[in-house]
This record gives sequence, C-alpha cells and structure tokens, in this order.
Amino acid sequence: MSRVSLRSTCFVAIAMLVACAGPAPIVGTRAAAPKPEPSASASAAPSASSAAPIASAAPTLEPCVDPPNDDKADDATADTLDDGFEAPPTEGGVASATPIDALSDAEIEAKLKADPASLGTISLGAIHNGALLYGIQMPPGPQWELVNASTSWGTKETIDALTHCIGKVNAQFPDTPKIFIGDISPKNGGHFPPHVSHQNGRDVDISYYLTKDHRWYQTANAQNLDLPRTWAFVRALVTDTDLELLLMDIRVQKIVKQYAASIGEDAAWLDSVFQYGGKSTRPLVFHVPGHASHLHIRFYAPTSRELGRRSYAYLLKHKLIKAPTRFIEHVAAKGETLAHMAQRYRTTVDVIKKANKMPNSIVVKGRVYKIPRAGGVERQTVKLAIPPRRTPPAKALATATPPPRDTPCKHATR
Ligand SMILES: [Zn+2]
Repeated sequence: MSRVSLRSTCFVAIAMLVACAGPAPIVGTRAAAPKPEPSASASAAPSASSAAPIASAAPTLEPCVDPPNDDKADDATADTLDDGFEAPPTEGGVASATPIDALSDAEIEAKLKADPASLGTISLGAIHNGALLYGIQMPPGPQWELVNASTSWGTKETIDALTHCIGKVNAQFPDTPKIFIGDISPKNGGHFPPHVSHQNGRDVDISYYLTKDHRWYQTANAQNLDLPRTWAFVRALVTDTDLELLLMDIRVQKIVKQYAASIGEDAAWLDSVFQYGGKSTRPLVFHVPGHASHLHIRFYAPTSRELGRRSYAYLLKHKLIKAPTRFIEHVAAKGETLAHMAQRYRTTVDVIKKANKMPNSIVVKGRVYKIPRAGGVERQTVKLAIPPRRTPPAKALATATPPPRDTPCKHATR
C-alpha cells in the first residue's frame, strides 16, 4: 500500500487522549498521575465513513488492526523521508514544571548574553521548522554505535533518555549487542534533508535489536527480531521517558505486542500503547511506512522547549535563529492531493493545511496554495502541555530469556 493511501486509511479522524498513569518518572520532568485509568473506548473513534475529508482540527485515528498479509516489511530504503508524521494532539496534558519557570525574562536574557550554554539545551520550533541550540552530542559508548556522530545532536532530555533506556536493556540482559543510533539532529538542528523532522533535537532514528544480521537498517521480522531486548527497550521508552511517539511498522508492532502479551504484560495497557489492534484513539506507537528497518523516537523534551519558547524573541533579535518561513505559491493540478504537495516540497500535510487555513483536506484544481519553504523557526507561543506517562498496572512478568545469537554483531554502518 502506498504511503498516501496508508496515511489516508490509518490517520483520518480525531483523537482523544488515552492516558494510563503510574509511578514517578525516571527521566525528564513530567509528573505521573496517581492511579491508572482505563483506556478510552475504541467506540470513540469515528467510523470509516468519516475518512474524507478531515473536518476537524483535531485528527482522529481510524484503527489499524491488521498488517498486510505479506510477511515482508516495507523496503527499508523506500520511505526514509517519511518521518514528518505528527500524532494527534493529546488532551488532558498538564504544562509541566521546568527549571526555566524560576527565571524571569530578564534573567534569561542576561544569561543568553553572558553564557547561553549555561541555560541548557534549547529546542525551538516545530519538528519541520525547528532549530537546536547548545545541543549535546550523543557520546560514544560501549552499548551503542553512532551511525553518524556529526548528526547525533540532541536535547539533554533526548540524550539522557536514550542513555537510560539502552542502559536498562543492558542491565536486564547481559551480552546485549550495540544498538545502532542513526540521525538525531545536526549540531544546530534546522532543515535536515532527506528528513522532514529531526530539526530540533527531539527525533531519533535507532535500530531494533536483532538476533541475526544485527546491523543498521536491517529490516526486522519474526525471524530476526530479538524480542526480549526490543520489548525491554520500547517498554523503557514508554514508562520511563517523556515519549511523544514511536514510529514502528505495523508488522513489527504485531510481533512485539504479541510478545509483550505472552510474557504477561497487561492487555489493556498494551492496547493503549500500540496502534496495532486498533483499540487506542491515541497510541504511542504508530505505523508509518519505512519503519521496519528502524524505530523513530520523538521525545517531548519539555525543559529544552520551554527554554526555546522563552528565548525565541531574543534569539531572533540577535539573529541566532532565522525568521519563520516564507511561502511559495503552488497551483494545484488535477488530482493532486495535500500528500503529493507535502512530498514534493518536503513538508507535511498539516503544515500546508495550517498555512492555507484549510478546514479540510480537499484540494481544488487551479487554486493557489501557499507552501511554507523549508527553513526558519516557528514560534511556539503556548507552554507545552504533556500527558502523564502511560505506565502499566503492577504485575509479575514471565522471566524473558533472550534468544540465541547466531553471530557476533556486525557493525556495518550506513
Ligand atoms: Zn526518523
């Protein structure tokens, strides 16, 4: 199924926040709610008949229940650009307290003048119109391999969360091979082709753990997935970090979710986490083609983004970031869709809709559409509100035994 048709099939309508809460956070600043809540009913999702056109500003998810019949995941190289997906907004989020809250605007400006790096990492703008200032480069480490160190810059939250989750897998399973870390962001973020996102230090491409042919961009499947380690990693991301979303091919989701259920993970919690199964209106793990060869992680990074929001005017005034995007005009051709335009101009459907104040996704032949050009940093005016972490009810799990590995891990890079 093509990217366009999959998107229109799977991500059509409106989403409500599904938040299951739990114990105190380990990485980041987000507070956890005191007790678990049930998942939102699947009946909250609209019927398939609502697929065209999107009438609401708040997108809804149509359930993606069954992977395609063929057992082969997408060609790993075919969709490397398809990382501009934005999850439906969540409701019920709370603006998290950050260390930046204690500083006045004058104090922030003084520090920006005297020693800006002392404030911490600054994440600016949207995933497709962003920047990263004073980012942290993922260091070399015995538990991971950087595919390209020069594009492994992230917010402090991103680096801390990766280190924590990889470390947790290694603590649980001795002799874990190195995980391959692909692109995060360039040193100062910004436009980063061929990616759409990866602009402000919050997006990470990372490998699965595989039992054979463990190398960067190797397609994962039922024959080679190291399920105990991969699930341990995904679980740590969900329960211990400020995770906004994960992109994982639906076929891989199926395998991982079934494994998690087999070791005793709570079924309702798994339904709230995975898009596979179609039970959650706002999962954390989404299907986007091209993500059978790697996971795409996006963190909220609340502190770095709050600093970005509070610093924006100063940074713009002093030309440390560029003004927001300029537009070009595009005349719609017959049969053209927003997805076509988004692909052509390396942007997203949501960006085009917003720029043209479109109430739906209908493209009219001959009409002129404004397309934001790549570059520039979008201003965030509202403090980020993020939902509580989705943690499972406490219960005993079966002891996972990692499968045998056939060869020493190969550190091929790409
Ligand atoms: Zn990515």
